[in-house]
Amino acid sequence: MKQRRADVAWLYREVCARGLNVGSSGNVSARTGNGMLITPTGVRGDTVEPGRLVRMAFDGTWKGDVAPSSEWAMHAAIYAAAPAANVIVHTHSDCATALAALGRALPAFHYDIAQFGGDDVRLAPYALFGTRELADHAVAALAGRSACLLANHGMICHASDAAAALLAAVRLETMARQYLLALSAGEPRILDAASMAEVREGYKTYGQQPARRKP
Ligand SMILES: [Zn+2]
Repeated sequence: MKQRRADVAWLYREVCARGLNVGSSGNVSARTGNGMLITPTGVRGDTVEPGRLVRMAFDGTWKGDVAPSSEWAMHAAIYAAAPAANVIVHTHSDCATALAALGRALPAFHYDIAQFGGDDVRLAPYALFGTRELADHAVAALAGRSACLLANHGMICHASDAAAALLAAVRLETMARQYLLALSAGEPRILDAASMAEVREGYKTYGQQPARRKP
């Protein structure tokens, strides 16, 4: 548990240090045996401490004098729906939020969209922060995917560990920026389903070195 606390605090610091969060707008969490460890409400990245993270059950109960992030229900619903999710990052990062404010999903303008598990990053409809409705929208938009945009709000993504979650959050923000840039200059061309199927096939062997020959 000590290591997990250190990982979650590190992740939140990194998310804030990289400009993905301003103040205490976002939150991060990690799955524990029967619940999760989540950033407390109102905490900033530069002041987060491992000992102040809130250990809580998925039903919203926690012990101690520190209240969890107001978005705990969205995190809990995602852990319940996605067994592969071990760490979750939620931000109001600039470009993902700008796109979500335009009411746009992130389409396959770049083949690397497939990194998030499909041919696009969906946009969840708007609902008030902290509500069960928002949690349900996020879970639906994440079906089969590891990231989604949240209309008029931001983004949320999950990964297998803290380092992968940070990479996913940075990647999503970068791709949202690239798509906005393309939109500002014209009409981006979107890859078709057949091209994206090829990408998924290509990923299966991407980055693998050829097996070393035995002498
Ligand atoms: Zn939020």
